[in-house]
Amino acid sequence: MNDSLRFACTGCGKCCTGHHVPLTLDEARQWAAAGGQVVVLIEGCVADGPGMPPAQREHVLRRSHPVPCGQGEIRVSVTFAAFNPGRCRNLDDNDLCRIYENRPLVCRIYPVEINPHIPLRPENKDCPPEAWEQGPELIHGAIPVDPALAALVQASRQADRDDIAAKVAVCQALGMTTSALKGDGFTAYLPDMSAFAAALAQVSVGAEGSWTLHVERPELIGDLRGLELRTTAEAPVFYAFIGF
Ligand code: SF4
Ligand code: SF4
Repeated sequence: MNDSLRFACTGCGKCCTGHHVPLTLDEARQWAAAGGQVVVLIEGCVADGPGMPPAQREHVLRRSHPVPCGQGEIRVSVTFAAFNPGRCRNLDDNDLCRIYENRPLVCRIYPVEINPHIPLRPENKDCPPEAWEQGPELIHGAIPVDPALAALVQASRQADRDDIAAKVAVCQALGMTTSALKGDGFTAYLPDMSAFAAALAQVSVGAEGSWTLHVERPELIGDLRGLELRTTAEAPVFYAFIGF
């Protein structure tokens, strides 16, 4: 990993195409109100068991929420993201953002990583090579050099923690209660946006849900059933399973 990276955005617009942009709860409300589609991505793990990466335990615990699953309990992490299979709906014909002053937090942070366990690697980003050959120092020792950018990263991590209970409640209200196992994949839902907006307007945190883990690999199914967790390997109807 580079200890220090320079960076200057070239304005190529590639990060605004083909990327589902994670949104805070408030940003998801705004996205829905503006007529945008949200994709819901869910992964779960057992607190000290399957799916939990030991080195990331604290990070995962902070941004996940406990829910019942069979006779046991799993922790689910939920991402509400702007659904951008092609060009973002806010990208204009000149590759400029129409909502630049109010763009989501993650759009302000890119290409810096939000997960503290993922090192920033230019080869994993859409930015062209010249973007990394100019401009001021972006990160030093994995920390953003610009204090304003560092504050945005912290704000994004904090929102993940603050929002998770409400996101789980929205999922439960809409029946989006099948999770993938972290490290094995995600489940992905495209909710009806009227129902999604209504659920966001009346979040009922703390309501009981009953969750299922979608796993297809026999060895994982055996492990999870051994913990009395409910699993399914049936072909999904209301969601997609994006396996790794
Ligand atoms: S909201 Fe703006 S900055 Fe964010 S992906 Fe869309 S066009 Fe790009
Ligand atoms: S992909 Fe990189 S260089 Fe291109 S607009 Fe996005 S942040 Fe800027």
